[in-house]
Amino acid sequence: MDDETNLRAAFAVARKARAQGDHPFGAVLAGPDGTILMEQGNAHAAEGQDPTAHAERLLATRAAKRHLAPFLAECTLYSSAEPCAMCAGAIYWAGIGRVVYGQSKSSLKAATGDHAENPTLDLPCRTVFAAGQRRVEVVGPMLEDEAASVQDGFWTQPPRLTLDALNRADIAGFTQALGHVFEHAPWVEEQAAALRPFETVSALHAAMMKMVLDADADTQTVFLRGHPELAGEAARRATLAAHSSAEQASLGLDHPDADLGARFDRLNATYRARFGFPFIICVRRHTLPSILANFEQRLNGAPHAERTAALAEIAHITRLRLTALVDGPGKPATEGWLTTHVLDTAAGRPAARMTVALFELDGERRTLRATATTNADGRTDAPLIAHGSLRIGVYELRFDVGAYFQSQPEPSFLGVVPIRFAVAEPETHYHVPLLVSPGAYSTYRGS
Ligand SMILES: [Zn+2]
Repeated sequence: MDDETNLRAAFAVARKARAQGDHPFGAVLAGPDGTILMEQGNAHAAEGQDPTAHAERLLATRAAKRHLAPFLAECTLYSSAEPCAMCAGAIYWAGIGRVVYGQSKSSLKAATGDHAENPTLDLPCRTVFAAGQRRVEVVGPMLEDEAASVQDGFWTQPPRLTLDALNRADIAGFTQALGHVFEHAPWVEEQAAALRPFETVSALHAAMMKMVLDADADTQTVFLRGHPELAGEAARRATLAAHSSAEQASLGLDHPDADLGARFDRLNATYRARFGFPFIICVRRHTLPSILANFEQRLNGAPHAERTAALAEIAHITRLRLTALVDGPGKPATEGWLTTHVLDTAAGRPAARMTVALFELDGERRTLRATATTNADGRTDAPLIAHGSLRIGVYELRFDVGAYFQSQPEPSFLGVVPIRFAVAEPETHYHVPLLVSPGAYSTYRGS
């Protein structure tokens, strides 16, 4: 039971590494009593494209510097995936006594193939440890499907540009590589190219945004007018640039129904007449109700405030595009996620096997986004929303508390417990727990 709990902590570290632009691997070190002492995610990008910055190797090195060998011999290293030969070597030399891993090397190899950044070294860690003179106990694979889901879709993405390559490219190469980040405005990349080298992806983005913000008012207006209308003619006829098209399609704005289409037509016309450029919002950060609410509200803004708001949205749009395109140190956080857990405060333990449903709200209308059942830790096996799918909006979690307490002698006072909450920063982790007894409940904003 403790092994599963700690292994899931390693999965969470792997997800965090992935959200930060590193490879989706994580490890934690637990002491003799099972308490987690340290955690470490993969740091491929964070360490400057270091192919040896595996989570377990970094963790083994840190552990060896902090703890004495007799203590480490009693410790367990939990890894989301089976340690490679290099990491098994590091674990052996650090003197860590026990290893528990999720995904096996062979399953990982099936996922990564011969990916340039992870040509998996398919040697079982048990083989490496068996060659040593000190015994290392190995448990795994464990929770392998859950472990594999951490890698979902990661290795099939096309190889991305690196910041290093952009820093070394000639101006034409630099401009061409980044040409789709700021639509129809090659001057942004051309001017930013002169400020190289950039130490971080964030610095590159900030430099490009500065070109836009420092441009004179006429240039800015032309730039803003180059953006497409939301659910406008171009979106519906599929004549948009690739990025805009995919962004609008992510909310179905490429074929809105007649009512929604008419509503956008009216809003678009009013906005353009008032401000002289189209309404701009980072579609990928919002739910549809949030976009419509923003649209209605911004129609009443002062012209200078609207220009500032449009430029702030362009910063969001281009940050997401740049992060998807370029690998390198200092990537801005762009992917938030949502988790929950349920604590049975009457029994003083996690509430297992409680069903949870997540809805997206549009006024009083609910759209089901996810269902799950809590596991032995009172958590769901995977985040309810993960990997950049979290959007600004209003949500409702519904916990079937009545069914959970049905075996109690007294009938449960509570039936379904709804918790409504708003997501305002989709780049961060929202944790919405439920603390519940048959007669009372509470929650808080965790992270
Ligand atoms: Zn490794």
